Order: sequence, then structure tokens, then C-alpha cells
Amino acid sequence: MRVGFTVPPRKKRDIFDIADGFRERFRPLMGASARVPIDMIYETLHLVLPGFRFEVCDHAELGADHGQTVPEKLLIKLREDVYIGMCKGVGRDRFTGAHELGHLFLHQPTGFARSAPNASTPIYMNSEWQADNFASALLIEEQRLQRCRSIEEVQEVFGVSEAAAKARFRK
Ligand SMILES: [Zn+2]
Repeated sequence: MRVGFTVPPRKKRDIFDIADGFRERFRPLMGASARVPIDMIYETLHLVLPGFRFEVCDHAELGADHGQTVPEKLLIKLREDVYIGMCKGVGRDRFTGAHELGHLFLHQPTGFARSAPNASTPIYMNSEWQADNFASALLIEEQRLQRCRSIEEVQEVFGVSEAAAKARFRK
């Protein structure tokens, strides 16, 4: 997890509700699949969120960052290799795409002065923790998850990485 910045607190339950509501808007694109079509969401989001745009950037611009979001400009930048991976269905890159959508929806400017988190900042006020939870909630639907019998099944059903599957799987 990157260091991120301090944002107004959010409960995990509230983040999950926002992500669930967002996923449902794209349900018609999913058919019988449980895989959230994250690449198609990027292509069509401007239809439900006018002004949204995304840019595919090279390493020179984004460097070590896989993505960057400028919420107030409704802009997401994805590194080229990450964008390609996301379109190919690579779990880790799909998660990055969903994580940046989390920043877009959760971190619009509110007048709250942003600062770097320090040791005493609660985790639920960390932008990266919030965006990671949004991504996990968006990609892995809780109800369907309960029918999965193994981490491998979670990976297959939802198109997520082993790490993302492990974080949510409970026996
Ligand atoms: Zn982030």
C-alpha cells in the first residue's frame, strides 16, 4: 500500500455499500459472469459520469505509480502496461483499475485539508486503505464469495489476484 494522504473517515461497511451500488449500475454488462468488466467500465463511465476521462500514460510520466487519480478533474491516469493488463484480465491490474475508481468516487474535494498520514492516523482515514477496500468490494461481491470453496475459486470467479482473493476468503 502506498502512503496516501489523510482523508475524512469512512467505515468499511459504507465503502462496501458504495462499491456495491456502483457495480449494480454495470450489471447489464456482466451477463451471467461474476467478473466485473473493469475495462468496459472505463470505456463507458463517461455516459453515467459526464466529464469522466482516463489517460493511458507511459513510464516516463507515471514512473513507479501504476495509476493516479485527480478526483476534482474526474481524471484517472493508468500506466500503459497496467491498462493493457487490465484489458487482458490480469488480476493485479484489474485491482489497480478498481482502486483508482475508488479514489475517484471516495476522494472528491470536501474542503478537508489533506496531509500525509502519520503514525497516529487511523487506518480508516487513509486514502489508500479506503481505495483498496473499494476495489476489493467492487471486484468481489460478498454474496457470490460465500459460495466459493477455495482461494483459487475466488481468483477464477472474480478475476482477481491471489493476494486479493486471500484478503477476502474465509473458510
Ligand atoms: Zn491509491
